[in-house]
Amino acid sequence: MKQVLKCGQLFLAREKRFAADQNVYVEDGRITAVSSGPVQEGWEVVDLGGKYVLPGLIDAHIHCNLSGGPNDMLRFGQMSVPDFTVVSLVNVQADLMAGFTTVRDEGAIAFTDVAIKNAINRGETWGPRMFVSGPALSPTGGHADTHFPPYMSQSEGLGLLCDSPDECRAAGRYAMKYGADQLKIMSTGGVMTKGDDVGAPAFTLEELQAIVDLANSRGRITSAHAHAGDGIKLAVRAGVTVIEHATMADEEAREMMRQAGTWVVPTLSPGVSILRYGPEAGLPDWLVEKDREVVQTHASNVKKFFEMGIPLAFGTDCGTSFNYHGKQAYEFQLLHQAGIPAAETLAMATINAAKMMRMDDKVGSVEAGKLADIVAVDADPIADLSVMMHVSFVMKDGKIYKQ
Ligand SMILES: [Zn+2]
Repeated sequence: MKQVLKCGQLFLAREKRFAADQNVYVEDGRITAVSSGPVQEGWEVVDLGGKYVLPGLIDAHIHCNLSGGPNDMLRFGQMSVPDFTVVSLVNVQADLMAGFTTVRDEGAIAFTDVAIKNAINRGETWGPRMFVSGPALSPTGGHADTHFPPYMSQSEGLGLLCDSPDECRAAGRYAMKYGADQLKIMSTGGVMTKGDDVGAPAFTLEELQAIVDLANSRGRITSAHAHAGDGIKLAVRAGVTVIEHATMADEEAREMMRQAGTWVVPTLSPGVSILRYGPEAGLPDWLVEKDREVVQTHASNVKKFFEMGIPLAFGTDCGTSFNYHGKQAYEFQLLHQAGIPAAETLAMATINAAKMMRMDDKVGSVEAGKLADIVAVDADPIADLSVMMHVSFVMKDGKIYKQ
């Protein structure tokens, strides 16, 4: 099918600005040309004349297994793998309908993320383009240890537990064997897991290096969940591609990231949501207190990362408590409140995220040769980023899902 999208305003992701009256030609799921002036004959016109058109959005940190309920982390000890598969598909479909044509899953049980990705790619069901981790690599007692009671065996959990460089290599090989696009590493404890430490490094440098070397040897990226200084520094020294959260990075950690060119996916949403809704919903005190600790320096850190030129990509951690699939565009407003210019937040969710995932030859901008992943909103997001929560047009691979 030959279609031309007549765009009132089109976001040029590389230039971080909108251009008026652009025509985007789409054939067989790909963008073949972008031009202004009269529309060529023989193409079916899709009129987006009153809209602000953007490249398909990328959420570079989601959890398809989690649905935003207050205690969804407890699901890992309660739900079956088939249950997870169905729930996860529904969640990523909500992401697509909100304009997120590509999502990066940051850790899922029993390769449910891989199963959904494959079914979508085979055309057996519909959903966003998925970039997946499978289960995250975690030490015993770490952030992806599902913490089953000692009398229950942990055959499947959120994490692959590994406690030496050899075990880390084996876990990484296992994750890639069954379809992980990247290796996700739990480099420090987390807010939502009891008993681990958000600051202390979870893995040793040798363990981290074993994982990074393995990923590099296969041309894969590494994603390290890390909240505080020491955990971040060790991950950066090991050479990870991207730090997730980086809530409590200190000056030395920021400088190390800048020098190494380490990416950051900040995910401001969960910290803010848990603090706002957690106490009333009855989340345990230890969890709310951990959240209070990491939130304090998060927004100011994001601003510092930006000012230092540390590359930033958009991610929301959606699925975590009160952080719902399909509503995650709230993150745009939080980034802006933290001091990131509006156009930069749009670049973070398009070209930046695509570069971080090494997918910028396919997605992240509306340019000839790329896949036709295109979304639109009804008002100028530069003037008011809340419009990003109301995406009114969604195209993925040239197919219209919302109009
Ligand atoms: Zn996460």
